[in-house]
Amino acid sequence: MARVFVITGPSGVGKGTLIRGLLARIPELELSVSATTREPRPGEVDGVDYHFLSEDEFDRKVKAGAFVEHAAYSGRRYGTLRSELERRTAAGIPVVLEIEVQGARQVRQSLPSAVQVFIVPPSEQALRERLVGRGTDAPEEIERRLEVAERELAAQGEFPHKVMNDRQEEAVGQLERLVRAELDGEAG
Ligand code: 5GP
Repeated sequence: MARVFVITGPSGVGKGTLIRGLLARIPELELSVSATTREPRPGEVDGVDYHFLSEDEFDRKVKAGAFVEHAAYSGRRYGTLRSELERRTAAGIPVVLEIEVQGARQVRQSLPSAVQVFIVPPSEQALRERLVGRGTDAPEEIERRLEVAERELAAQGEFPHKVMNDRQEEAVGQLERLVRAELDGEAG
């Protein structure tokens, strides 16, 4: 089966940016588009950034077993659709999941062969600065995310691979080496 890579870590650590860099360097990799009940941010496109669902739609999919994993985060729900993952793995395409820690734990149980990487911020201050600087979340939301981040950071020891996102190019390089080693290992 094709490889599944889980990229996790606190909100604001730069998972999305690192993954964009990774996808540019390893074009065969594809990102699974998650489902969420949060509102789209300006510029986000349904079906591209997320599948934006109502609470009812999300619930129906949970009941139908449509999720590989799902979790509540900051009052909203997020989940990986089985369809997103399986149509790629069935076609031999390696997939990246960008998910928070509770979801990563579920994938660890249900898909132990997935490679899990925790992205570590250089400091908690750096997280705050990134969350404030990207300008996508209201101040109360930023505080909620930083509270969750403390718990998420405490869980980093559970993850076999850690990459610190201090200098972005270096972090992307580390991710690329890790992913290539896994993909090459499979081919050989
Ligand atoms: P955001 O609202 O900033 O887009 O995402 C909030 C958090 O949810 C981030 O840590 C993000 O990685 C995570 N997330 C995004 N998609 C999923 C998903 O499908 N499952 C889980 N468990 N978390 C997700």
